[in-house]
Amino acid sequence: MLQTVVHYFLHFIFIGAIAFLLDKSNWKKVWLILLSTMVVDLDHLFSQPIFDAQRCSIGFHFLHSEIAIIIYSLFFFFSKNKTVTIISLGLLFHMLVDLLDCFWTFSYCNSCFQNSIFY
Ligand SMILES: [Zn+2]
Repeated sequence: MLQTVVHYFLHFIFIGAIAFLLDKSNWKKVWLILLSTMVVDLDHLFSQPIFDAQRCSIGFHFLHSEIAIIIYSLFFFFSKNKTVTIISLGLLFHMLVDLLDCFWTFSYCNSCFQNSIFY
């Protein structure tokens, strides 16, 4: 329960604070851009079951794969377009939040760890 609250707080609310830090005068716009990066979770639709709280997303779904994360990083570090940089930051932060969730789950679910890419 606490884990779920923290997870969605980070995904939806905390990024508002990041947006504020990035650009105080346009933080609502930046927040919306960061929120839009939640669409990467659409890759869950290609998995069975679509949602499994015990499953670690990182390394499982294709938009949460190592290759995807490398691509987001490249855009983040090398793009000169501000919007692209914000989007890639949103994606990287999303991966970090999901990763945190994986480790939290592993702390009480050993088989979840064994079924993940980290094993
Ligand atoms: Zn995700």
